[in-house]
Amino acid sequence: MTLTIGVDVGGTKVAAGVVDERGKIIESLRRRTPAASPAQTEQAIADVVSELLSRHQATAVGIGAAGFVSHTRDSVEFAPNLAWRREPLLAKVRQHVSIPVIMENDANASAWAELRYGAARGHDDVVLITVGTGIGGAIIIGGVLQRGRWGMAGEPGHYRVVPDGRLCGCGNRGCWEQYASGNALVAEAREFACRTASGAARLIQLGGGTPEGIGGPAITQAAREGDPGALQCFATVGLWLGQGLADLAAILDPGCFVIGGGVSEAGDLLLGPAREAFSHALVGGRYRPHAEIRLAELGPEAGLVGAADLARLAYPG
Ligand SMILES: [Zn+2]
Repeated sequence: MTLTIGVDVGGTKVAAGVVDERGKIIESLRRRTPAASPAQTEQAIADVVSELLSRHQATAVGIGAAGFVSHTRDSVEFAPNLAWRREPLLAKVRQHVSIPVIMENDANASAWAELRYGAARGHDDVVLITVGTGIGGAIIIGGVLQRGRWGMAGEPGHYRVVPDGRLCGCGNRGCWEQYASGNALVAEAREFACRTASGAARLIQLGGGTPEGIGGPAITQAAREGDPGALQCFATVGLWLGQGLADLAAILDPGCFVIGGGVSEAGDLLLGPAREAFSHALVGGRYRPHAEIRLAELGPEAGLVGAADLARLAYPG
């Protein structure tokens, strides 16, 4: 059985693993990302690969990078949480590694893993949406990752849903991720707590006594306890999520949406309202099949599993 190595490079950690042909992780390692220094980040990638290669005979390496990977997939043009700016990452890592290396955007790698081994098995037309601090995404049509002309397709978080709406970190206003992300959930809860302190007593308690202290885990816990305010926050964010998925369905018509990211750990608290809103908002909904909306199954390891699998496909050994 041939083995490949997947490396998931995010803003805070480098996670690497040896993966077999069935998508199973044989061994994995984690390092903090020296995010401010491209040279040190590249060294960290080379180090984890070397360490894994000292114990396993792998045939290729796939890197999933948290950034805008160019359409030629050899450089990272821009990374919001890392110091990469037009960084020729592939060539630099190849200098340190003796086996073939490929690179892919991290969300694309995760979507690929979910299609091959996770929630989207059996589907060819899949949209992955990661609901974390912001919203990430990836598109697979006809079993092929869609990267766009310059490699930057599948970033629906910055699709404008509200003209002149909330200011986004990208500089525009009204982006989807300002309404349907973890940040949006926290903003809803804090706003609610400021408005009605008595109705939000449990949320404020879990937030350490102040509305500003309320974070994602506190909202999820309160909602699981049945707290009406916390449930309303999930209903609001789920509504925005479901409506956005319906808009994406109008453009892409996928068979399956896979919802991942930290906020998706709340499960049906988020997906329940999202599915309902999707059904209502889907154009011609009564007269057409509805895409499935599923929770991601592979968790935080999806990126490295997908990157390893893409390396295997590029270099079958
Ligand atoms: Zn934006």
